[in-house]
Amino acid sequence: MQVLRTPQALNRRLEPHRNKKNSVGFVPTMGFLHEGHLSLVRRSKKENDITVVSIFINPLQFGPKEDLNRYPRNIKRDKSLLKKENTEFLFIPETRDVYAEDFQTTAKVGYLSGRLCGRSRPTHFQGVATVVLKFLNMIKPSSLYLGQKDYQQFRVIEKMVEDLNLAVHVKMHPIVREKDGLAMSSRNVYLNKKDRAQAPVLYQALKAAVRAVKTGERNTSRIKAGMRQVLKKAGTLRLDYLEIVDARNLAPVVTLDKNVRVVAALAGFFGPTRLIDNILIKA
Ligand code: AMP
Repeated sequence: MQVLRTPQALNRRLEPHRNKKNSVGFVPTMGFLHEGHLSLVRRSKKENDITVVSIFINPLQFGPKEDLNRYPRNIKRDKSLLKKENTEFLFIPETRDVYAEDFQTTAKVGYLSGRLCGRSRPTHFQGVATVVLKFLNMIKPSSLYLGQKDYQQFRVIEKMVEDLNLAVHVKMHPIVREKDGLAMSSRNVYLNKKDRAQAPVLYQALKAAVRAVKTGERNTSRIKAGMRQVLKKAGTLRLDYLEIVDARNLAPVVTLDKNVRVVAALAGFFGPTRLIDNILIKA
């Protein structure tokens, strides 16, 4: 595995592959890797000649009161996990090599950025779109791999690629979960024992929504009420949002319709730790 620290060094190494028309898969991450990240890497490896993984904790996507400074890091472990997967390239740039001091140009995807997580994190998706656009320009991959775990992020990036005619295929990969159903996340290490034991309730609520739809329920208020009942089991959970939205435009849906794919999505805090999860539902 080659580890590159600057966009210039990365470009030099990638140029011969591009010239040979090798397909390049790109998996952006913020590190502290787990099976969720590695499943994206494996998929990219399977579908491409070479794979580039980035580890970059992007300051632009963190709000002023968020966990930028305490975001978990373990580069040594990440490197060894990626080596085991036979990853060809690991890109770990410094913040100063991504954002020059007078950096002032950003990418913003309209209303998709303001829904769901965008309500409590108003600048988050602008930060995400900007760094992904920059990395796409640096790497010029054939395919970009994103996890369904961050479904809104996937839609924001998919829309940016469509709206700006970027030459990359955006591929979404399913959520990888712990045995008890909790979606894997770098932030799960923040949870204390009690909260960790309660956290699977998020997935249980999502499964309750799927069950309700399977039994014929079409009214999303009633589905959400059932989900809230399940979430009550977790006494320490502070719910941020619970929504059932159109999978494309992320607008709330009142009555399910078999022609519209929806996502049940939620976010909540256990102590200071904010977790998200979602599930795709077909009526
Ligand atoms: P992050 O390091 O949290 O920015 O995540 C990097 C990529 O991995 C994003 O595309 C995430 O959606 C994806 N990802 C994170 N957790 C999971 C998971 N549990 N299952 C699948 N993909 C994931």
